[in-house]
Amino acid sequence: MFQRSELAAAVVLASTLAISGCSASGPVAPTQSPPPASRQAPSSAQTPGSIPPEVGTDTEAPNEAELVTQAKALAAGYDYAGAAKLLEGATGADAVTALEDIAEAQDQTVVWADNSKISHLFFHSLVVDPKRAFDGDDRQQGYLDYMVTMDEFNKIIAELYKRDFVLVNPSDIAGLDKNGKMAYRKINLPKGKTPIVLSEDDVSYYEYMAGDGFPTKLLLDQNGKVTNEYTDALGKKVQGAYDMVPLIDAFVEKHPDFSYRGSKGIVALTGYNGVLGYRTSKSQYPESKTMAKDTVTATKVADAMKANGWVFASHAWGHIDMGKSPVPRVKNDMKLWNAEVRPIVGDTDQFIYPFGADIASVGHYSGTKYDMLKKDGFNFFYGVDGTTTAWMQMGDSYLRQARINLDGLQFAKEKRGDRPVLKTFFDVKKVIDPARPK
Ligand SMILES: [Zn+2]
Repeated sequence: MFQRSELAAAVVLASTLAISGCSASGPVAPTQSPPPASRQAPSSAQTPGSIPPEVGTDTEAPNEAELVTQAKALAAGYDYAGAAKLLEGATGADAVTALEDIAEAQDQTVVWADNSKISHLFFHSLVVDPKRAFDGDDRQQGYLDYMVTMDEFNKIIAELYKRDFVLVNPSDIAGLDKNGKMAYRKINLPKGKTPIVLSEDDVSYYEYMAGDGFPTKLLLDQNGKVTNEYTDALGKKVQGAYDMVPLIDAFVEKHPDFSYRGSKGIVALTGYNGVLGYRTSKSQYPESKTMAKDTVTATKVADAMKANGWVFASHAWGHIDMGKSPVPRVKNDMKLWNAEVRPIVGDTDQFIYPFGADIASVGHYSGTKYDMLKKDGFNFFYGVDGTTTAWMQMGDSYLRQARINLDGLQFAKEKRGDRPVLKTFFDVKKVIDPARPK
């Protein structure tokens, strides 16, 4: 089921990719809490001719209008219970109508029939400037094989939305019950909508990628929004959406019905080059003068991402092959991840295997490595299988899901007709960037 040749090829990249660490946060309820009700202060500087606010007479009214807007936004993202709760006790005509609409929309949802048939697509950091990524140097082939360009990414996401896919997070799909048994959870969506998981690996902006046309970090802009820093071909530093996280955030803001209750996806982190573009590995950068500051900044970015519906996953500290590595090496790697990545991204129950190299074949998990991973809190595990639209295995106390690699290798296989998989999600021919060298 897992293509070893593909994994072997991926290993070559990983040896290049080698340094970033990351861990995931546990199930995170996307926070869409309403902003504090804004109260219009009586203004002594009224513009001539403007209508004076009715101070003190009806202070509830603007508050309720705001709540209605927020409730509609929650309902658009399928959080009907959250939407209804916001309007609890509201008596205005708009609120009553909104409550009726919410109840009606909820009535029209159906429970997704089979959680084991949920697809999972994954990316690496996006190529922003194909000219610099595909410039003929010794890193070009790795980028062509394992990355997609920002243009390709945007086309893929628009097509997924057009085809009625809806982003879900692992905790929407399943979770441990009170006895520690893994169980599927109900996903309520309007008929015709299909849940899907997205993830992005190695979001460390590795050292080796410098100058090759990739973003350099994730950071918060002056409004507290997660954005990228990117250095253009002329060496000018700019801020904006240049990678999956801010691009998906913006897309969902525009199309709230692309996300199930605010879910966005999984970000898988190694540790050896730090995380999210910050060189936070104490073992690798012992001389860093900015370690404390970088760690604080990375933690703030991670917190903002979690609040926006992103979930972190461990991708092993050193991007090691979890299947082949002997137990002591795995143990040491997990120790490093716990020391250098977990404090920044928080606890997580998600583990995304580097190279897709699983600790077991398709049989159920058991043994030392599994016990170690469970002891560290991991309950969800992800390999790679680009040959089928969905593969899931429910264990007694874990869930294993295969992911489909979206990259040049998979595009090429699809174009040759070897892999009739991607057509479920988009048409490769329409997505492929003409900037890829022929
Ligand atoms: Zn990786």
